[in-house]
Amino acid sequence: TKWVYSFGAGQNDGKAEMRNLLGGKGANLAEMASIGLPVPPGFTITTEVCTYYYDHGKSYPPELEAQVAEALARVEKAVGNRFGDHRKPLLVSVRSGARVSMPGMMDTVLNLGLNDQTVEGLAAGSGDARFAWDSYRRFIQMFGSVVLGIDHHRFEEIIEHVKLDAGLIEDTQLSAQDWHRVVAGYKDMVLEVKGEPFPQDPKAQLWAAIGAVFGSWMNPRANTYRRLHDIPADWGTAVNVQAMVFGNMGEDCATGVCFTRDPSTGENIFYGEYLINAQGEDVVAGIRTPQPMSKARAKPGERSMEEAMPNAYRELVEVRAKLEKHYADMQAIEFTVQQNKLYMLQTRNGKRTAAASLKIAVDMAQEGLISETEAVKRVNPSALDQLLHPTLDPKAPRKLLAKGLPASPGAACGTVVFSADEAEARAQKGESVILVRIETSPEDIHGMHAAKGILTTRGGMTSHAAVVARGMGRPCVAGAGGVTVDYHSQVLSAGGQHVRAGETITLDGATGEIFIGAVPMVEPQLSGDFATLMGWADKVRRLRVRANAETPLDADTARKFGAEGIGLCRTEHMFFDPDRIGAVRQMIMSETERGRREALAKLLPFQRKDFSELFRIMAGLPVTIRLLDPPLHEFLPHGEAEIAEVAAALGTDPEAMHRRAEELSEANPMLGHRGCRLGISYPEIYEMQARAIFEAAVAIGKETGKAPVPEIMIPLVATRRELEITKAQVDKVAQEVFAESGYHVEYYVGTMIELPRAALTADKIAEVGDFFSFGTNDLTQTTFGLSRDDAGKFLPLYVEKGIMPKDPFVSIDPEGVGALVKIATEKGRSVKPDLKLGICGEHGGDPASIMFCEEAGLDYVSCSPYRVPVARLAAAQAAL
Ligand code: PEP
Ligand code: MG
Repeated sequence: TKWVYSFGAGQNDGKAEMRNLLGGKGANLAEMASIGLPVPPGFTITTEVCTYYYDHGKSYPPELEAQVAEALARVEKAVGNRFGDHRKPLLVSVRSGARVSMPGMMDTVLNLGLNDQTVEGLAAGSGDARFAWDSYRRFIQMFGSVVLGIDHHRFEEIIEHVKLDAGLIEDTQLSAQDWHRVVAGYKDMVLEVKGEPFPQDPKAQLWAAIGAVFGSWMNPRANTYRRLHDIPADWGTAVNVQAMVFGNMGEDCATGVCFTRDPSTGENIFYGEYLINAQGEDVVAGIRTPQPMSKARAKPGERSMEEAMPNAYRELVEVRAKLEKHYADMQAIEFTVQQNKLYMLQTRNGKRTAAASLKIAVDMAQEGLISETEAVKRVNPSALDQLLHPTLDPKAPRKLLAKGLPASPGAACGTVVFSADEAEARAQKGESVILVRIETSPEDIHGMHAAKGILTTRGGMTSHAAVVARGMGRPCVAGAGGVTVDYHSQVLSAGGQHVRAGETITLDGATGEIFIGAVPMVEPQLSGDFATLMGWADKVRRLRVRANAETPLDADTARKFGAEGIGLCRTEHMFFDPDRIGAVRQMIMSETERGRREALAKLLPFQRKDFSELFRIMAGLPVTIRLLDPPLHEFLPHGEAEIAEVAAALGTDPEAMHRRAEELSEANPMLGHRGCRLGISYPEIYEMQARAIFEAAVAIGKETGKAPVPEIMIPLVATRRELEITKAQVDKVAQEVFAESGYHVEYYVGTMIELPRAALTADKIAEVGDFFSFGTNDLTQTTFGLSRDDAGKFLPLYVEKGIMPKDPFVSIDPEGVGALVKIATEKGRSVKPDLKLGICGEHGGDPASIMFCEEAGLDYVSCSPYRVPVARLAAAQAAL
C-alpha cells in the first residue's frame, strides 16, 4: 500500500481530487505544485494511516517507516539540505490536514529538525544567529506544548524571566544571546516536567510530531467540532511534512493569510493580512497587528504589502488569478515570502459569510467562472437563513460603547456572558446571550454556538473567533482593543462606561460596533444578488414552495420571500385572539348544541375576515386551511385566578368551569379528543369554519371577479370513514353558501396524513380526499411513539450519543417516517394518479428533508415564512 505521497519534490503523487486520502491541505499542496505554483517540497502521510493507527492499537503500518524515509530523502534532494545535518540542516513543518478544514482543532509544529547542533548550522547558513536561536526556541515551545503536552504558560514564564533580567519589554528586543538563554531555560524546564531531556534526534522529533497529529484527531475539541459539523470520526486526518521556508529571516521576509475575495462581503478584491519578518502563527495569534494586502485597503499609518514588497505582491496577484481560474472558487491562501521569494503554503476554498457566499456565487456566474446552476449549488440553503435575519435599524437611536473589527456580519442583541459554559447554560433556558471573551479558543466552541453573537477584545480578522463565527453564521466583533474585559469582576469597560454580566448589549458584526442596550432591527434586503440567485433557483426546481401562515403579517412576509401559496393555515391560532377567546370558551362551556351554535355564530364574522385577508394577500395562489385541530381544554383558562375571572366574564359559575376542565382533561391529549374527532363530535365547529371560508371566497370572487380556490384540510384522520363524514359536512355547507349567494367557487377537501394508519390506508383515504398534506410533526410523534412535547428531555442525548443521527423532529427520519410517506404516496396515487401531495410539518423547511420530498415525488413543501427562501434554494439543489 502507498501510505506516503510526495509533492513539489520533482514529483507530485497527489492531486486536488484526492482530498479523502490526502486531506484538504495535502491534496491542494500537490495540486498547486502540479500547476506550477511555488510550493516548498514535502510529503503527505495519508488519512488511511490515521484510520490504521486507531484500528491497530495506535501503531503504524509496517511499510510506513521506509516510505517516509524515501519521501524525506526526496525533499532533502530538492532543497539541497539534509535532515539532521549539522552544517546544512533541513527543517520541516508538520501539520495536520483533514478532508475538511477544522480550524484550531489540530496542531502544527514548525522548525522541526533543530537541535543543539543544527541550530548552529542554521545560524551559519542564514548569517543570523538571532533568527536561528529564535527559531529553535519556537520549535521547542511548539513541540513542547503540542507533542509533549506542556502548558504554554511554562514557556511564557521563561521568556518573561529573561526579559525582566535583561530589562526588555518586547520580544523583538531580545538578542541571539537572550534567545539562547531562553532555549536553555526551556530545555531545563522540559527535563524537569517530563523527566527526560528535550529530544535531540530529528527523526525521533519527526515521529513524535506525526504521532501527536494523529493523537489530536481524537482530542475533545476535535470531537466537539466534528459533532457540530457532522464530520464522521473515521475520516481521519492526514499529516503533511514540508520543507520550512522562513518569513522571519529579516525585513525582506513576510508571512500572510489572505482570501482571493473579501470573505465578509464577497467583494471581488484581494483581501487579507500579512506581517513582515514573522512566522505564520504570529498572524493568527494577533500579537502584532497585521497589515493589509492592497494599497487601496491601507488606512493611514498602515503599510500594505503592495507598497512594501511590490515584486512578491505582483507575483501573488498572479497566483490569485491562477488559483481562482483553476479552482473556480474563492480561495483562502497562506503564503510566506523568504528573502523576496514567494512560497505558497496552502490554498483551500475559503470560508465565507452567507452574504459573501451569495455574492461570490452570483459574481462568479456573471464573470463566467461557473454556470448559473453551479452558483445555485454553491450557496448553502441553511446559511441563507442568516441573510434573512434583521440588521440594525439605521434610524434607531443607539449608544455606542466601542468599536472592533467587523469580523462576521449580522446584528445580535443579548445579555453579556463571559464564559462559554455560561453562554450555553443560559441559551438552553431560552436567553439570548452575547459571549464576550478576550479571545476565543477551540475550548469555547460550544459557547460560541449557543450565543447570538460574539465579542472579543483581541485578535484580527483571521483570529479564531472571526473564522469560527463566520463559519457558524454568528455575528462577531473581534479585536475590540478599546474594550477591557475583567473575567473576575464580570465587567467589560470602554471609555469609562461599564457593562456587567447579565446586562444587554447589541453587536453589529458588519461594522464592528458595540452598543449598550438593545438596538431595534430592520428586515433584510431581498433584492440584488439574493433575487438573482433565487431566480436561478426557481428556474431549476420542481417542488413548489408554500408557507405555513395564519396571520396577514405572516402571509405578507411569506409572499415577500416568494411563497407560492399557503400550505397550512392553523385556524386554532386565530381562536386565541383576545376578541374571540371569550366566544370560544362560551362554546366549550355550552352543554347543548344550541348553546354552542350561538357562541360559534359570534366567531363566524371573525373567521370570515381572517380568511378574506389571507385570500386577498394570496390572490391567485392556493390557500390550505386546516379546520380546528387541538383538544378543547387548550382553550380553557388555567389557574384559580384566571378561572374565576373568565367565569365571571362569561356569567358562569367557576365550579362549572372547573368541572368542564376536568371532563376535558386527558392523559394523552395528543392522542385524544382532537382533530377530526372534534369535528365529528361537534359538527357545528367545522360547519362554522367551512361557512366562514366559503363566504369569504364568495365575497372576494364577487368583488374581484376571480374567486380563490380554497383547499380545506381535515386534521388527524386515521380512517376513510372519518374523512368521508367531515367532507360531507363541508360539502353541505358549500352547497348552502353557493345557493344563498348565487355564486359558486371551486374548492378542494383533503386531509393531513399524520397518523401511521392513514399512511398505510392511503389508497382508501384517497378515494375520498382531493389532496394529502403530510403532517410530519405528528407523523414523527406517532411513528416513533415519541411525544413532541417531552422528547426534549432525552432526544439531545440520543443525538449526542449517535443513537439517532439527527433530531427526527428537525430532519425527517427517512427510514421510518419517510417509508410511511412513500407508502402513502404510492397508495394514494394508485387511486388518483394526480393526487396533489405536500408536506407541512417543520420538515418542510429543512434542506435534507426537502431533498427527501423531491425524491418521494411530492408536489410542494410548506414551511415557516422565514424559511421560504431556504426551501426554494434547497428544492433547486434537490432537483439538480
Ligand atoms: C404536523 O403534525 O406535522 C402539523 C403540521 O400539524 P401540527 O404541527 O399543527 O400538529
Ligand atoms: Mg399535526
